[in-house]
Amino acid sequence: MSISEIDQAHIWHPLTQHKTSSAPMPIVKAEGAMLYAEDGTTYIDGIASWYTAMYGHCNPYIIEQVTAQMKTLDQIVFTGFTHQPATTLAQKVLDILPENQQKIFFNDNGSTAVEAGIKMALQYHHNKGSKRNTLIAFENGFHGDTFGAMSVSDLSVYNGPFEDYFLNVKRIPAPTEENLAGVMQLLQSIIEKHACAGFVYEPLVQGAAGMHMYDASGLESILKLCKANDIVTVADEVMTGFGKTGKHFASLYLETYPDIICLSKALTAGLVPMSLTTCTQEIYDAFLDDTVAKGFFHAHTYSANPIACAAAIAGIDLLTSEDIQSQIQHIHKRHSAFAKAIKTHPKAINIRVKGVIFALELHTEMERYGSLRNALFKHFMDRGICLRPLGNTIYILPPFVITDVQLDQIYKAIKEALETF
Ligand SMILES: *Cc1c(COP(=O)(O)O)cnc(C)c1O
Repeated sequence: MSISEIDQAHIWHPLTQHKTSSAPMPIVKAEGAMLYAEDGTTYIDGIASWYTAMYGHCNPYIIEQVTAQMKTLDQIVFTGFTHQPATTLAQKVLDILPENQQKIFFNDNGSTAVEAGIKMALQYHHNKGSKRNTLIAFENGFHGDTFGAMSVSDLSVYNGPFEDYFLNVKRIPAPTEENLAGVMQLLQSIIEKHACAGFVYEPLVQGAAGMHMYDASGLESILKLCKANDIVTVADEVMTGFGKTGKHFASLYLETYPDIICLSKALTAGLVPMSLTTCTQEIYDAFLDDTVAKGFFHAHTYSANPIACAAAIAGIDLLTSEDIQSQIQHIHKRHSAFAKAIKTHPKAINIRVKGVIFALELHTEMERYGSLRNALFKHFMDRGICLRPLGNTIYILPPFVITDVQLDQIYKAIKEALETF
């Protein structure tokens, strides 16, 4: 049986309505920014396989480091044991994180990083003897698919059947220059009416909402008000982390740093799953007590898996290299030039660029979800480009190692989409 036949017979894919969706495409090889399909066709990975493989697929440096680690220490329980890949990674990531971050907790994917962040925020107050039962989050946020993460998310396509079982969450719109006064008023009234434990947010770019970008100064005001009320601020940098916004982390665009930061996706350079929930000394200290139960009793079997740590260390080596840093600048310049070139096109609205992220909304009469999205996906795949439009939003988030020729092919295909739809 072929890959496709076995897949159809036995596999249940994520985010897929199997009754109506077409068969998933078998991919047999990946290298740099390229994906190779079983049928011989090739695709430029314009979204770095969901923002993970930022240094290119099968990057030789990362493979070398991970291979060496595999031969020395593969896995060890992280409760009661430790190892150098974990300690080195902790040092390296703290070197580049906002300077208020002091402690690293290991999880194994983006959702569980957020889940741990939410539990830390709730238990922080619990340990201090105050019962705070409400979380604050942005409208249209996405934070993952476990229950805590789903609760703070606001995309009902994903969450519909589970909404009755969620944590208490109050929502505010993402800030803009126009709505900021109203948002601050709403936030103030939520804080007065509810016992707010934490605020969970995607800093500057809401990925799943369609790469919606918002203003740092509005977020600054929100964070300041949260801090003034001892509301734990949890930055979900699962998507924005590791250079995508131009700085190592989106939180570095702000003066007020979060209490907790969630990291995953590009953390391990697209090799193996892992995530981190980092926090300040103040958060950590609230869990120190002679009572065992005041500790953070949360664990995953593969916490701080040494191989994943090795991939993350190698990833940070590359991220902080001159080569990758100049590539980030270069891609940003190219995106900005492309944005300028199509600025006046009547079909291209709300064109935006942040770091290596480029997005626009296609102005069309077609139904946003369903037919248009699928037609756009096919449009790009037919041209050898893997993009995953969100509704009528077309976005690029390429691996840092993408070449100019490959970028040109993507831009050309976007221009053709503007003419076609
Ligand atoms: C992808 C993503 C998550 C969830 O991560 P998983 O590894 O898929 O569980 C959470 N938050 C944001 C902002 C994400 O982009």
